[in-house]
Amino acid sequence: MYEYFQQQLTDKEISHNFRTIKEYHPIDAVRVVYDDREYLMMASNNYLGLTFDSRVQSAAIEAVQKYGTGSGGARLVSGTFPLFTELERAIAKFKYSESALIFNTGYMANVGTIAALCDKNSIVFSDALNHASIIDGCRLSKAAIQTYRHCDTEHLTYLLNNVPKDTHKLIVTDGVFSMDGDIAPLDTLYELSREYNALIMVDDAHATGVIGEGHGTSAHFGLDGLVDIQLGTLSKALGSVGGYVAASKIIVDYLVNFSRSFIFSTALSPADIGAALAALNLIETDIDIYERLQANVAYMARALGTFGIESTDTTPIFPIIIGKNEDALAVSHSLWKSGIIGTAIRPPTVPVGESRIRLTVTAAHTREQIDYVCRSLQQAMSNI
Ligand code: PMP
Repeated sequence: MYEYFQQQLTDKEISHNFRTIKEYHPIDAVRVVYDDREYLMMASNNYLGLTFDSRVQSAAIEAVQKYGTGSGGARLVSGTFPLFTELERAIAKFKYSESALIFNTGYMANVGTIAALCDKNSIVFSDALNHASIIDGCRLSKAAIQTYRHCDTEHLTYLLNNVPKDTHKLIVTDGVFSMDGDIAPLDTLYELSREYNALIMVDDAHATGVIGEGHGTSAHFGLDGLVDIQLGTLSKALGSVGGYVAASKIIVDYLVNFSRSFIFSTALSPADIGAALAALNLIETDIDIYERLQANVAYMARALGTFGIESTDTTPIFPIIIGKNEDALAVSHSLWKSGIIGTAIRPPTVPVGESRIRLTVTAAHTREQIDYVCRSLQQAMSNI
């Protein structure tokens, strides 16, 4: 009965693709302890370092004291406490949208939104490098999926020209691509969506708090209030857990009534919502945090260049493309020996032959830490 599973796992081991879970003990936003040794975290999405901000921590504690540890039910049954309304209002304002809705994770927001808005009569136009949760939402919706080449708006135009005009259409893209750190051409995608009468949705998981003065991809392109659906997560720059959709009232009402991942799951806990709300307030009121992140991104790009390592400098995600799985693992292992966590990302997360170390810098890293990482990376790469 178990042979099939064992064979699949063995295949993963043979292709250097077997994964295990490691338990880390966080010391602060950028340092963790594993097996009695301290490591520098260069793999998390805690872009603004807010998980250890005392104001965010206090808000989570106060929320627990005021509203308890768990929500006790789904949002439509008994799980909506006042902080939800406050956070949804704050997100709508922050994203220049009419309304907003919290989901339990970004994954559930994508799956539940796409599957609710599209059905077997719809066509979804999806960037080739979109996140797995977008892909899973498309599959669940039963819509026809047309994948356009990564950020290739000419290819998308070609595909749009080849479907009947009156078909229900959705164009969906990551705002900042999770494994490459590049930014989707949302300005052109938006224009195409209007020209071809398609809904447009952007996943701002890695963009919120990170680009557009923190407001995300639409703000980055000056598209405030125009993109139909801005979706994201509370788990990255906002230092908590959860997902959200910012959209018109009609879309939000529709999701409340038709999105199964929203309807059929217990609401997030007060600690999650309290922390996210405090983090969002900080992003709006303390621009220094955002600017520290931008300064660290620029510094890291320069430092990598000094060590002869090619990368992009658009966002805090630095994809160091290695190629083979085993080489990426070897570099990751060398970094580990230097006390640095830089995870090897392999297929199916990235295309075959493009295994990489995905390094992320945050507002909380110091210049000395960044220098040390770049120096260690150069050494690690010279050994493969
Ligand atoms: N979208 C993108 C682009 C992501 O990178 C992620 C998380 N890796 C998600 C959605 C899912 O968000 P969450 O972790 O909150 O489920």
